[in-house]
Amino acid sequence: MGHTVTLIRGDGIGPEVAEATKRVVDATGVKIDWDIQDAGVDVHAREGTPLPERVKESMKRTKVCLKAPITTPVGTGFRSVNVELRKIFDLYACLRPCKTFQGVRSRYDKIDLVIVRENTEDLYAGIEFKRDTPEAARILEVIKDLQPAAKIRDHAGISIKPISVEGSRRIVEFAFDFAEKNGRKKVTAVHKANIMKHTDGLFLEVAREVATKHPKIEFEDRIVDNMCMQLVQFPDKYDVLVLPNLYGDIVSDLCAGLIGGLGVAPGANIGLNGAMFEAVHGSAPKYAGQNKVNPTALILSGALMLDYLGEKAACARVQKACAAVIAEGKHVTYDLRSAGDARPPVGTKEMADAIIARL
Ligand code: NAD
Repeated sequence: MGHTVTLIRGDGIGPEVAEATKRVVDATGVKIDWDIQDAGVDVHAREGTPLPERVKESMKRTKVCLKAPITTPVGTGFRSVNVELRKIFDLYACLRPCKTFQGVRSRYDKIDLVIVRENTEDLYAGIEFKRDTPEAARILEVIKDLQPAAKIRDHAGISIKPISVEGSRRIVEFAFDFAEKNGRKKVTAVHKANIMKHTDGLFLEVAREVATKHPKIEFEDRIVDNMCMQLVQFPDKYDVLVLPNLYGDIVSDLCAGLIGGLGVAPGANIGLNGAMFEAVHGSAPKYAGQNKVNPTALILSGALMLDYLGEKAACARVQKACAAVIAEGKHVTYDLRSAGDARPPVGTKEMADAIIARL
């Protein structure tokens, strides 16, 4: 029996990497009935919203989505469609494997990390109040004794950082569960509990409690700034990292840098009733429409989707085909070419062709 999947082609470089990924997934022979739904900047211009109801309806129906990146205007404009989708469908666990590919230009050769990022809470949830609004004024009134300077007190924008027991427990449990099922040895909880005692402190407290139920997996914690330095100096000392939303976002890009960049970093957003697969990278608008960027990150996200759908063999074939094309180094995009390599890079479509040929 086939699977029905919502495909959101996104904007910027989205449509190009989405098309490449669809072709690779179809080439595995797994029967997918794609429900193609557009969202993002262009849809906003056409339909007055970047995330029309029909997209949400499709995801409610299919429960599985492959999503190419979508632009979020900086500072002003509409809120993140990506965050909105994760929140609506309660896709609380963001899973981002970061593994070195042979042949990728990187200072490191044996990275094998897995990021488990909480996806629904924290400063990243976008609960914000604009300065000089009645809502902001009400909150500032409540915290006025904590604000040292009158100027800050009166004209402050406010972001709220909710971190709950339930939200922390389910993400840490997800991380331990993943570690146990995938033969991993250690979970490291990342936080800033020394400063944010009631939010990150809570996350750490719950992580410690969950860890006691999984004695076979080693557990430790790191303060996020130290974690960043440790990952750059000693990445091989770490295994599965579990982080609140914002640190997870930032550390994901750091780890993508360890394995050769955003072009090869895949991701999955998983909830109890569905999942959405997307690359770590964004819509890279400056490269839109140029057939230039690396499709591997979304293709590997497509492989994670195949795994989720129970198509384990197809997942493994896609992963192997990507690894083989990268290792061979003939048909790769610009980001995988080192400075001294005179071979011309290929385009998005041609790299996907090479991956399909390997399948
Ligand atoms: P970005 O990830 O889009 O791009 C940063 C840089 O990384 C690019 O300029 C390019 O040099 C490189 N890069 C990214 N993807 C690549 C690929 N596939 N192949 C080769 N190189 C690649 O980050 P940004 O420029 O900070 O963000 C652009 C937009 O994307 C913003 O609007 C942001 O909000 C959005 N965004 C969306 C998602 C998502 O859809 N989940 C994730 C991150 C950012």
